[in-house]
Amino acid sequence: MLRITEGIDVIGSLQYENSSDPHAWMSAANGLIYIENIKNALIELRPSSKEAIEANYETYKAKLVKLDQDIEAEIKKIPVDQRVLITSHDAFQYFGDRYNVRLEAIMGISTEAQAQTSDIIRVTKVIQENKVPAVFIESTINPKMLQQIAKDNKVKIGGELYADSLGDEESSGSTYIDMLWHNTSNNSGCSFTKITPSREFRK
Ligand SMILES: [Zn+2]
Repeated sequence: MLRITEGIDVIGSLQYENSSDPHAWMSAANGLIYIENIKNALIELRPSSKEAIEANYETYKAKLVKLDQDIEAEIKKIPVDQRVLITSHDAFQYFGDRYNVRLEAIMGISTEAQAQTSDIIRVTKVIQENKVPAVFIESTINPKMLQQIAKDNKVKIGGELYADSLGDEESSGSTYIDMLWHNTSNNSGCSFTKITPSREFRK
C-alpha cells in the first residue's frame, strides 16, 4: 500500500479529537512531498522506466517549487493585518500555515456539519475586528450562509475557491497548479489591489 501523504506534517482537527485535517494539498510544499512519494512508488513498480519517471518528476518538481515561491510572494503583497481568509469550510489551514494567512471558516473540516449560531457570531467578529473586506465561497459548497454574512457585514464576496475538488476543464482551476494559483490570486486581487498574476509557470 502506498500512502502519498507519508512525511507530511499533519495538522490536527480543531473540531474532532484524534483526527487530522485532510486538506494537506493546499500547500505546494506538501505537493512536493506527494510527488516524491508517487515518483518512488512508480519506480518501484516499473524499474525499467526509472529514467523517464525521474525526468518527468524533475520537470514537475521545478513547477511546484516556482508555484510555492509565487504564492508566498503574492501573499506578501497583502498587509499583514489583512491576511485573513474567511471561507465556508475549514479547508485552508495548510495553506495558511505555509503562507502565513489566518483562517476562519464557518464550518469545520467536514462539509457535512451544520454551522451553529456561535460560528456565525465568531466569524462576524473576525470580519469586524480585522476590517476584512471580503469572504470567499467554495466551488463545492452552497454559498447561502456566507452570502448572508457578507450582506450583514457589508463586505464583498471575493470569488470562488477550489477546496475539495479541481474545477472543470475550462475553469481556471483545472489542474493542481492552476487550482492553488487561482485560490491565491483571487484572494489578493480582492482584498488588496488588483494584481496581474504571473502565469509563466503554467503549461
Ligand atoms: Zn474539505
